[in-house]
Amino acid sequence: MAVQPKQNLSMDSASETGFLNFYFSMPEKPDTTVRIFDRSDYYTVHGKDASFAAKEVFKTNGVIKMLGAGSRRLESVVLSKMNFEAFVRDLLLVRQYRVEVYRNKAGGKSSKDHDWQIAYKASPGNLTQFEEVLFGSGGGLGEGAAGVVGIRVGTGSDGQRVVGVGYVDSILRKLGVCEFPDNDQFSNLEALLVQIGPKECVLPAGDTAGDLGKLRQVVQRGGILLSDRKKAEFTTKDIVQDLNRLLKARKGETVSSAALPEMEKQIAMSCLAGVIKYLELLSDEANFTSFKMTTFDLSQYMRLDNAAVQALNLFQASSDDPTGTHSVAGLLNKCRTPQGQRLVNQWLKQPLMDKNKIEERLDLVESFVEDSELRQSCQEDLLRRLPDMNRLAKKFQRQNANLQDCYRVYQAVGQLPALVLALERHAGKHQVLLNAAFITPLNDLISDFSKFQEMIETTLDMNQIEHHEFLVKPSFDPTLSELRESMDQLEKSMQAALNSAARELSLEAGKTIKLESNAQVGYFFRVTCKEEKSLRNNKKFTTLDVQKNGVRFTNSKLSSLNEEYTKNREEYEEAQNAIVKEIISIGAGYVDPLQTLNDVVAQLDAVVSFAVVSHAAPVPYVRPTILEKGTGRLVLKGARHPCVEAQDDVAFIPNDVTFTKGKEMFHIITGPNMGGKSTYIRQVGVIVLMAQVGCFVPCDEAEVSVVDSVLARVGAGDSQIKGVSTFMAEMLETAAILRSATENSLIIIDELGRGTSTYDGFGLAWAISEYIATRLKSFCLFATHFHELTALAQQVSTVNNLHVTALTTDNTLTMLYRVKTGVCDQSFGIHVAELANFPKHVIAYAREKALELEEFQDISTVDEDAGPEAKKRCMEKKDGEKIIEEFLRKVKALPVEDMTDEAIKAELRKLKAEVVAQNNAFVNDIVSRTEKAKTTLA
Ligand code: ATP
Repeated sequence: MAVQPKQNLSMDSASETGFLNFYFSMPEKPDTTVRIFDRSDYYTVHGKDASFAAKEVFKTNGVIKMLGAGSRRLESVVLSKMNFEAFVRDLLLVRQYRVEVYRNKAGGKSSKDHDWQIAYKASPGNLTQFEEVLFGSGGGLGEGAAGVVGIRVGTGSDGQRVVGVGYVDSILRKLGVCEFPDNDQFSNLEALLVQIGPKECVLPAGDTAGDLGKLRQVVQRGGILLSDRKKAEFTTKDIVQDLNRLLKARKGETVSSAALPEMEKQIAMSCLAGVIKYLELLSDEANFTSFKMTTFDLSQYMRLDNAAVQALNLFQASSDDPTGTHSVAGLLNKCRTPQGQRLVNQWLKQPLMDKNKIEERLDLVESFVEDSELRQSCQEDLLRRLPDMNRLAKKFQRQNANLQDCYRVYQAVGQLPALVLALERHAGKHQVLLNAAFITPLNDLISDFSKFQEMIETTLDMNQIEHHEFLVKPSFDPTLSELRESMDQLEKSMQAALNSAARELSLEAGKTIKLESNAQVGYFFRVTCKEEKSLRNNKKFTTLDVQKNGVRFTNSKLSSLNEEYTKNREEYEEAQNAIVKEIISIGAGYVDPLQTLNDVVAQLDAVVSFAVVSHAAPVPYVRPTILEKGTGRLVLKGARHPCVEAQDDVAFIPNDVTFTKGKEMFHIITGPNMGGKSTYIRQVGVIVLMAQVGCFVPCDEAEVSVVDSVLARVGAGDSQIKGVSTFMAEMLETAAILRSATENSLIIIDELGRGTSTYDGFGLAWAISEYIATRLKSFCLFATHFHELTALAQQVSTVNNLHVTALTTDNTLTMLYRVKTGVCDQSFGIHVAELANFPKHVIAYAREKALELEEFQDISTVDEDAGPEAKKRCMEKKDGEKIIEEFLRKVKALPVEDMTDEAIKAELRKLKAEVVAQNNAFVNDIVSRTEKAKTTLA
């Protein structure tokens, strides 16, 4: 629970009335927008926002105070600066709400309290104005792109539905457009939204073309915040002019965006216009000539629908997953830099389709997997030292960088030679690639920055940096050197003051009493809390504050020296101002190389991260063999689910899977609850995705033909309580969505309608499966409880039955998690699958029996004096074992490969009858035990 702020919402009645007048005159807002009022040393929220803040921040309504009276009563909650920052972070990054901050024109608390206006605002897709609050001055979040899309539906020349999308990514400074035909489920749009991963979406209000309800569903399914905007904002009227301002000139040409090929996409362009207006890009000059325009090609990356993103658990790193192993992103993202983290998240949303590109990434990863020394030095040392260059670049771009930022760049560039050296030492088989991807670009950057480095070395006072002071060298200007001299003198005097204070307090200067400084108060003395007693009752010293690391205090001598020092320092800063401006503006010329450096580092960090994970897994991952799209082979040997196997206390059982075009294309998986069906089918999806992202995979061997999409349908876990109609709706939706699958897609269907074993449900499951198997011909894994579905294998030759195995002993069911061919025995008679388990039953049972009844000894050791009963039982057991052995031998000899399931069943029934006919008590007992276990299982 947050500490309640000390401030009280104190206003005189005039300003209260003024404020209330203003407040109640404000236009309505949705609950997902929170309005915060900046009262200079604290903040307030009101109305519904107040109740919300009380609950979220303070976890109590006790903090709510009332302003006004009667119908103009207004709930109010005061937020300290710290509360405010935490609240805003939660609103924007976690809840994905909008935030508006209002400030009084007259500043702070004034009687003109009706004169408020919006000072800044942010939404999940546009955090620019809140960057400092959200990310502080340290590294940014490893968040993916924070973009905003605009969407409109139109009609193409052929009368088909066309979706236009315009988007702005204000972190990566990208504008994009994309236009494509779509079906009534908006499957293409959904795939596109997964690939670009926007945080926010704007739609023209009142636009009724196309099925907007469905469109909204698709957007919201992706967890994207929706805002309706005026339709008039979605116009291409001024777009050429606006783009001319925003776009960077391409080398050697003056832009005229009128000539851009993207202009042809009129629907998408109008969306882009809508987003540009929404973000007010043109009202901030820092945005001018800083954007790049791209066209997004939907077919460039593997398509994923939201259900697949969820089923494969790509991103779900939440607070209850501290190790991050539950999601694929959490597992694979071991990056050391924010830019690396952003890139890995982007890669996961954009798995590659081009075999050459995949191989290239795999080559890079392999280099770091094989070279442990290089991998470790990058991960543990070199990459850690690099800051978020993207954020620095943006600060320079906006001209709000300072000398410390210059020094950060200087330091980062200074690290590059060590990085290059480490990379050059690598002698693996992909040396040439490593050279092209990292060494050459880094060397080029080192030379690009050489003048910058020189400038910083000649201008920055390196001596002061040790004290965290970022100042221009005094030698630069006579005024500066004069001031420096006097400051040095003052420092000496302060040292002397320290010594006399130490004497006075009987402490040791520099050890038990220290002279320190910070930006807020300047110089002060500090003693540890332990030494605090020596200060007590000493009137000569004034305590500044008490903190964990000690008591800060001062005396009249130090405080006057400090005052003078501060004055000098301020003058110094004043005097250096012009020079600093010059340095920063030169620095701004390095925005492009800084971006390039950012990208090279991000890529290096990402591949190193993949290599680290591949190497450190419980069983190291292997490099997959990638086959061209359409090759129609997906063969995984010893495949594991990377997230499940990474969990503690899981001894993961690997399994194989084989898909071959025209032969085995549709696997139906049955088996007991919790038997590992979901894990099995999902791990196949995860592995294919990992392979196409360019990472090694959790298998012993893997052959992967590039797939164009991974689509998933997952029934809600608790669908037992869902009605049949919901189930039917789910299935119909499945059928529609799967229409976007091709023969190169991978479809994962899990547990549709558990417990809804109605005939209708089954009929649909059957129809969908048949459609996929015979028409779409995609590779498909279908985990189901509809055992009747397994009969599809008899009708369609490419359908194959698999089941997860379990072991039954007396009353317990032990999951083996081993996936085997054939149907799980539940509602069918005796089957190969069960028989495969038979020997285990026999062995386990016999052993158990032998222990339980001592009479069951080997015949040779039976005592001559043993009773006739015991002797008989021993004989029976001996015979029984022979019968079973004989039976198993015959089963093993069956040419099952060439037999139909029916024939196998018939043959087994015959063999079983033969066994039973021999009427051996030992065997009969086992048979009846197995039957009983089967019934319990069913
Ligand atoms: P249900 O039919 O109830 O949905 P299921 O058959 O889909 O169950 P899963 O959810 O895949 O079963 O698996 C249940 C649990 O079994 C998992 O949480 C996991 O801990 C464990 N498990 C699954 N597969 C394996 C495996 N191959 N090796 C070890 N443990 C596994």
